[in-house]
Amino acid sequence: MDNSIVLNGLRFQPYLRREQIDKQVARVASEIRRDFEGKNPVFIVVLTGAYVFAADLLRNVGINENQVEFVRYSSYEGGTSTTGCVKQLMGLRQEIKGRNVVIVEDIVDTGLTAERMIADLMAQEPASLKFATLLYKPESSRTGYTPDYAAFTIPPKFILGYGLDLDGKGRNLPDIYACEEG
Ligand code: 5GP
Repeated sequence: MDNSIVLNGLRFQPYLRREQIDKQVARVASEIRRDFEGKNPVFIVVLTGAYVFAADLLRNVGINENQVEFVRYSSYEGGTSTTGCVKQLMGLRQEIKGRNVVIVEDIVDTGLTAERMIADLMAQEPASLKFATLLYKPESSRTGYTPDYAAFTIPPKFILGYGLDLDGKGRNLPDIYACEEG
């Protein structure tokens, strides 16, 4: 049976199934719970791609006295490769000085967005800052940045589904798909 899908003329094959995703999200959640229980963490979710991961992750972490904030950055302007130029589109509405912060991101590719966000947030003097990502592509790194928590380490494929998009499409897909073209 062909379970592939085509979006914008590109063919995507199933890559990670919901059961695998659920298992790894639960693992990352238990690591975060172990490290942040009793520390009143602030989760900073990076829009838009991390919204599905964040919803599952935070329910699995299960720390009720947490706080959730959102930021938005952009580096992709359509298509399947980064522009290399990171822009902040929406910043924090809440002070994080002295707080224990966990950034929740969909994917670390070149690492440029992660480095920019960390620099922006460190300027606000949090007590601690950790980075949790659904997907980590070490072979695409231009910065050498390694996230503190990663659900999956993957090769440099273009990914779709479970919150990740192609030109705004495909975020609704419950599984993760990879582009055939690499
Ligand atoms: P970086 O700055 O690490 O190169 O890229 C970070 C952002 O690029 C991610 O938050 C995500 O929005 C986008 N991105 C990187 N790789 C992929 C991918 O494989 N699929 C999708 N849909 N977006 C990606």
